[in-house]
Amino acid sequence: MKAVVYLGPGELSYEEVEIPQVGPGELLVRTRAALTCGTDVKTYRRGHHLMEPPMLFGHEFAGDVALIGEGVTDFAEGMRVVAANSAPCRSCFFCRRGRHNLCEDILFNWGAFAEYVRVPARIVQTNMYEIPLELEYEEAAMLEPLACVALGNKAAGISPGDTVVIAGGGGPIGLMHLQLAKHAGAEQAVVIDLKDSRLQLAQQLGATHVINPEREDPVAAVKDLTRGRGADVTIETAGLPDVWKMSLELVRKGGTVVLFGGCPTGSQVSVDTDRVHYHELTIRGVFHHTPKTVARALRLLSSGMVDASRLISGRVPLRDTQIALEKVMAGEAVKMAIIP
Ligand SMILES: [Zn+2]
Ligand SMILES: [Zn+2]
Repeated sequence: MKAVVYLGPGELSYEEVEIPQVGPGELLVRTRAALTCGTDVKTYRRGHHLMEPPMLFGHEFAGDVALIGEGVTDFAEGMRVVAANSAPCRSCFFCRRGRHNLCEDILFNWGAFAEYVRVPARIVQTNMYEIPLELEYEEAAMLEPLACVALGNKAAGISPGDTVVIAGGGGPIGLMHLQLAKHAGAEQAVVIDLKDSRLQLAQQLGATHVINPEREDPVAAVKDLTRGRGADVTIETAGLPDVWKMSLELVRKGGTVVLFGGCPTGSQVSVDTDRVHYHELTIRGVFHHTPKTVARALRLLSSGMVDASRLISGRVPLRDTQIALEKVMAGEAVKMAIIP
């Protein structure tokens, strides 16, 4: 089969590799659509502590079951399916406490940018679903990032009438947070981003206000919108220390800051202790997804509560995966679909 192999930062190759073997409990999926993800872009740009090249690349995909491993009963050949990129062990310290996203033995799966992708048994059992009829493959492939966003949305604890700010929010993750914030009843949904094209899309998806920091000071602008108080909730989705810092300044007393974007390893952010203490800020780090939020993400997609199709800027064949990643890096695309 043809596949994209990650060779290190800035280096991908499109080559012929063996179709993965399928063991007991596993499935082979014929990839119909894969999506570029912020993690892929980061890895392509600067490497990733979980990725050891050379390795198959990409992790958001949907397709058809091509082969069934021994003992699999929930899926049949030809079925349209989508799977998350990981599954927890369900037995470690964290899994037993319901914190499946922090699992000590989490199993990841890569290789979505290929004609076929193998799905390990644990993911088949825990985080794999038949695609509802109303969803296209590329919409279903949004399952994994949306599952992460659903976890962040829960941590945000948005109440009807709230002012929610999404900082660095013009990317796919921020735009999904925006849609969920609206559904949670946010009255004012503010998106901050440096790219006007992204801010336009945010407005189309329901942002009541957009702020480009190159033109106005976000902290002052949010204060103006909230009678000087600050936002009820701020969700940081840029993964930049400066935006983390700004997020803490954007919330009101008693407000919640969800730090969703992972910064480069080793980053440090200093906090104003008076703000955190006297203003009783709630600061929540959020990482990855749980089986519950994966299931929720599928419901959000199939009910149309999250419009995934608007976040896909274009489609390219498998051999042009590198071009797709570069388009996202350049800010010319929100998310690209790779169609093998
Ligand atoms: Zn992803
Ligand atoms: Zn575990």
